[in-house]
Amino acid sequence: MKGHMTALHLPGSGRWVNRSGQFCEQTNTHALLVSKNVKALEEKSIEDGSMRKCPSCAEVVKAEAVVCRFCQRELPAIEAPVKTQAQYEEEMLILMDKYSIFFDGFNYFYKKEKFPTFAAALEQAKAA
Ligand SMILES: [Zn+2]
Repeated sequence: MKGHMTALHLPGSGRWVNRSGQFCEQTNTHALLVSKNVKALEEKSIEDGSMRKCPSCAEVVKAEAVVCRFCQRELPAIEAPVKTQAQYEEEMLILMDKYSIFFDGFNYFYKKEKFPTFAAALEQAKAA
């Protein structure tokens, strides 16, 4: 019988099994859809830093994991994300724009008040 089959997802295996017990490895559209969503979720989790890819097997594991749950290999220690100068400057520009802080080459200004550092101007702007 062709058409829609009811399939059971086997947890953690990425496989589906139909009523007669045959594997239908991601062949039905529902399984494909689920796997797509999982992929999107994984990518999002990697982006926000809660997950990372195992360098040995490329499976996605929790960022804090010490041992990969897929290949049992040890995972490298997490490096603290270091902001590059460019990232720092970009963030600063966004904040300056958001709070209307100006820089004249020597001092920072917020509402005509003069501040020696960006942090001081930002603090005042945030408190306002
Ligand atoms: Zn692994």
